[in-house]
Amino acid sequence: MTLDMPTGLGATLAFLVGASVGSLVGVIAYRLPRELSIVSPRSFCESCERAIPWWANIPILAYLGLRGRCLMCGAPIPFRHFLAEISLAITALFLFLAFPLPDAIARFVLCAALWVVAIIDYDWRLIPNLITWPGMVVGFLAASFMMPEVGWKSSMLGILLGGGLLYFTGFLYQLVRGREGVGLGDVWLLGMVGGFLGWPGVFFTLFVGSVIGAIGGIAFALGGGANNSPAPVADPASDPEEADVSILRTEVPFGPFLALAAGIFTLFQPQLTHWYLGA
Ligand SMILES: [Zn+2]
Repeated sequence: MTLDMPTGLGATLAFLVGASVGSLVGVIAYRLPRELSIVSPRSFCESCERAIPWWANIPILAYLGLRGRCLMCGAPIPFRHFLAEISLAITALFLFLAFPLPDAIARFVLCAALWVVAIIDYDWRLIPNLITWPGMVVGFLAASFMMPEVGWKSSMLGILLGGGLLYFTGFLYQLVRGREGVGLGDVWLLGMVGGFLGWPGVFFTLFVGSVIGAIGGIAFALGGGANNSPAPVADPASDPEEADVSILRTEVPFGPFLALAAGIFTLFQPQLTHWYLGA
């Protein structure tokens, strides 16, 4: 592919915007579950809590330049920050080149939301409704007006299917295993994915996410489980409807796997759709 001047500039801009949003994702994923304000104070070290100078906060470069350590106290900067920055930068670049601009923007918004959800679910075993509920609405609007590959019908079906299908899976799991395997947070997450990507996206995310999750879950169990879980595991006998949906927690966070699968579909929807529909 040859890049002309405007495309090259746009691609560079997309990369920079992606990296900056990646940085913001780290801030939101850290502050949202702690109920801290997203806008103030400005970025601080998670260890020594001192404010980070602007130049030590430049996405991607600062992490590399400081070799992943806090400038002031030397504590390791969580690698996930770097990972979110670099992957969203590459994602934005790819989407800019592969999709018309409105479509690319809609897909990028979903990818950023998926990152926030994945980090929070990994850390806390919960998926914030604050992201997924508005996400379903935004997804439906985006699919209707910005994503011709999806459209409003598929989006609507995706929301219903995403919510319904996973809820049913969780119901079956609980019936068979007698305990909570799928949190309601995952249900809303799949609803958001359905809103953006339509019903084929829901199927892909659920099945591919389950496969990756099964592999990851084994690795997770062998590795001794998550780092921190002050998690009161949901009482299997209780009705999920009665519990506060936002504090329902599952044994292995399923969200990161669903998010990864949804991310793959977001980027490669045209190829995947044509491949599995044989068109
Ligand atoms: Zn520090």
